[in-house]
Amino acid sequence: MSVTSTSTCPCNSQLNYGDCCEPYHLDLKIPDTPEQLMRSRFCAYALKKASYVYKTYAQEKQAENPVKEIKEFADSCRFVKLTVNDTHYDAHKGYVEFKANYFYQNLYCELNEKSDFVKENSQWRYLDGVINPVADIKVGRNDNCPCGSGKKYKKCHSL
Ligand SMILES: [Zn+2]
Ligand SMILES: [Zn+2]
Repeated sequence: MSVTSTSTCPCNSQLNYGDCCEPYHLDLKIPDTPEQLMRSRFCAYALKKASYVYKTYAQEKQAENPVKEIKEFADSCRFVKLTVNDTHYDAHKGYVEFKANYFYQNLYCELNEKSDFVKENSQWRYLDGVINPVADIKVGRNDNCPCGSGKKYKKCHSL
């Protein structure tokens, strides 16, 4: 996936990338809310910006999430969309409930998670999350693409 400042942001905010997640990825701005951080992390996965995903983990979680593993996961998936269902935060911590859809090989997957965020050195960081398991959907080449484009999978998100 490639984007420019004037393309629609991959986090599905309906904003342009340049007015949404790009300033965070370029270190020009710091997310004000857990939702902004969460969106910018999803967007970084979609754009294979593994080092951004890494550095926005809470410090205590960085060692167990090396950049290499983040990169391998991001490279193996085609990210489709993010839906934020609920979020709440105070001065020190917060959560975001969301659904992230992506393809892994010929599976359509949904990550349904309630993520916890903490503030470290005045910046929001992702701590961990509770996943609500959702069964993967196996997609055939002639099936309608589960992304909702109305096209057949082989003409849309197929490898
Ligand atoms: Zn965005
Ligand atoms: Zn598709």
